[in-house]
Amino acid sequence: MILENLNVKIKEIKEVAELTKSFVLEKPENFVYEPGQHVFIELSIDNGKPFSLASSPHEDVLEFATIIRDSSEWKQELNDKQEGDELILSGPYGAFKYEDSEKDISFIAGGIGITPFIGILRYLTEKEMDTKVVLLYSNKNRKRTAFRKELDDLSEKNKNINIIYTMTDDPEYEGNKGRIDKSFIKKHVENITNKVWYIAGPPFMVDSFKLVLKELGVEKIKIDSFKGY
Ligand SMILES: Cc1cc2nc3c(=O)[nH]c(=O)nc-3n(C[C@H](O)[C@H](O)[C@H](O)COP(=O)(O)OP(=O)(O)OC[C@H]3O[C@@H](n4cnc5c(N)ncnc54)[C@H](O)[C@@H]3O)c2cc1C
Repeated sequence: MILENLNVKIKEIKEVAELTKSFVLEKPENFVYEPGQHVFIELSIDNGKPFSLASSPHEDVLEFATIIRDSSEWKQELNDKQEGDELILSGPYGAFKYEDSEKDISFIAGGIGITPFIGILRYLTEKEMDTKVVLLYSNKNRKRTAFRKELDDLSEKNKNINIIYTMTDDPEYEGNKGRIDKSFIKKHVENITNKVWYIAGPPFMVDSFKLVLKELGVEKIKIDSFKGY
């Protein structure tokens, strides 16, 4: 059931990467959602934007995360919020969600597109599900890689999670560098066409990842395009 215009209190504000903040909110009563879905957050009525939930349904809080950009007045206003302040929340929305029947999945996250995958990975780990996940996560550099510590902890705890980072502009980084393209996917992922693929991030990234997967013959693709970036 979709609930609308709920006033929710900010419980905690965390910095999850350079210029990237996560907002932990009180979960309204009867707010039921599935991992991967998004909500609509307003600073005042008719002044809002959609955000994926980085929280998992088993948690007693809701969480979303975003890049605070100087060029966005809306984000500056959000950035001024303190713990204890309220936001207006509606949701949940979206068909971009994990189905329990999927046992072999792969995620491609471009930058802040990691948010819905955090929610799904928390869910799979908490439920001790045997779902195999490969996460391909592309960022500019390590400092800008949101939720990196949590992802490393999740993959340590849940041996079914395999995380492959790549940095597009981080000369000192000793791991993978460069964009996620056909050869990158072939190198790091087995049984490519048998998996259900999820892509999330800003539209230009999502579009290019989708094209690459299509070229590889993938048919099962779910997409969350963060329109507005
Ligand atoms: C389903 C969904 C989930 C999302 N999840 C997240 C998330 O987890 N984290 C996150 O940071 N962001 C997420 N977004 C994007 C978010 O809603 C904002 O649009 C984004 O953060 C940019 O906001 P801004 O204030 O920085 O940019 P702005 O300064 O508002 O806009 C930047 C540019 O985009 C244009 N623009 C703004 N809104 C739209 C629009 N709706 N359609 C087309 N062009 C537009 C503007 O004209 C401007 O040129 C999600 C979007 C969708 C649709």
